[in-house]
Amino acid sequence: MTVTQERPMTYSKMRALMSFFSALLKGKKVGLSDFLHKLVSSQKLCQHLDPQKILQRENKLRREKREKGTRSPVNTESSQMKPSDFDYIKVIGKGSFGKVLLAKHRKQGGYYAVKVLQKQMIVKRKEQGHVMVERSVLLKGLQHPFLVGLHFSFQTSNMLYFVLDYVNGGELFYHLQREGSFPEHRAAFYAAEMLMALGYLHSLDIVYRDLKPENILLDSEGHVMLTDFGLCKEGVAIGGIMNTFCGTPEYLAPEVLQGQPYSPAVDWWGLGTVLFEMLFGLPPFYSQSKAEMFENILHAPLRLRSGVSEAARSLLEGLLQRDVNSRLGGSGDQVELQDHPFFASINWDDLLARKIRPPFIPNVTSPCDVSYIDPEFTHLPVPASVNERCQVGGNSEAFPGFSYMNPVEYVAVEPVS
Ligand code: ATP
Ligand code: MG
Repeated sequence: MTVTQERPMTYSKMRALMSFFSALLKGKKVGLSDFLHKLVSSQKLCQHLDPQKILQRENKLRREKREKGTRSPVNTESSQMKPSDFDYIKVIGKGSFGKVLLAKHRKQGGYYAVKVLQKQMIVKRKEQGHVMVERSVLLKGLQHPFLVGLHFSFQTSNMLYFVLDYVNGGELFYHLQREGSFPEHRAAFYAAEMLMALGYLHSLDIVYRDLKPENILLDSEGHVMLTDFGLCKEGVAIGGIMNTFCGTPEYLAPEVLQGQPYSPAVDWWGLGTVLFEMLFGLPPFYSQSKAEMFENILHAPLRLRSGVSEAARSLLEGLLQRDVNSRLGGSGDQVELQDHPFFASINWDDLLARKIRPPFIPNVTSPCDVSYIDPEFTHLPVPASVNERCQVGGNSEAFPGFSYMNPVEYVAVEPVS
């Protein structure tokens, strides 16, 4: 994900917000100033994080705790989480900079997906590594029904840790591969949920940019969850085209491949490629040769096989427009897509409230079920290095402000006596 723009705030607004949050989270000093700093650097993000709501939620949690008769003080050190707070159960994914593990919080017992990244690899691969991490810090306040939630992040001398919701219904890619393609109503449901998540990010001036089936997960109820906090995506455009490009190009918009400036409309291209693959089983412009695929994405005509509705064809043609100005969503963003006949049967309010029954419900038996995770990962041994006993936060200069705790968790993780 990429933060496109940071809006200036007036000094008085910033002061008011700073003092509000400082008072709210008084006493929880570790990492807080960084968190606040990041928070106020995006005006829209601040608007989104409604202080009243956070306060109400904090108060409710405190009240519930008091009513339960627990007397433990607010845990002011709780943002100093460390690797040994978790039991690492299985490897569930691999990314460009490290692994994703299923882990259980030792004290509280909750299950999380912990993404562990090696600092050295980030710094070695791209000098702007820490800039990316800073940006990712900014993404921590995000809350949306179709975005994976980030609970905590912390660091050791060598590693960065992101503690995320564990989403156990499997990658969309996994299900798509098994079934070949999806019927239109199923593809429309997933596309609609993705559309809402992307539109939400755009409303905060964030471009996701890396929409591809591996980053789209299904939760246990069958709803879409976008994952991936975009730590390694900057290099794609910054370094130019082919030579620095390490990933697969099939879902990237032509303007990104060409290293041109891009806008939120890249995500509508991405949605077009994923929708195409859901309906036809392969991404558009696919070729086994990477070079040819590059060429196709930039120049080949879009070929739509028969067997899909007129509405689906028209949506794909609209989204997979190389000219950004003519691309559907290019000027009116999310709303332009929502109004398209392909989504005529979707009640958007119900969708956002997760009231629409998903077309497929994963068969998971517990929050730590890994049956939809590729055995290629689950059979891997859990690396001993994830539990490194190095000093927490050591060598943190390269990644200032990384450690984080979701404001609500300040109360939620208090040890229950
Ligand atoms: P890449 O650059 O290849 O996309 P990455 O470094 O961005 O990789 P992620 O995409 O965040 O890493 O994670 C890698 C894989 O781990 C995902 O494709 C997914 O299968 C799994 N994964 C990530 N987050 C979660 C989660 N919250 N719950 C369950 N599985 C997850
Ligand atoms: Mg990814």
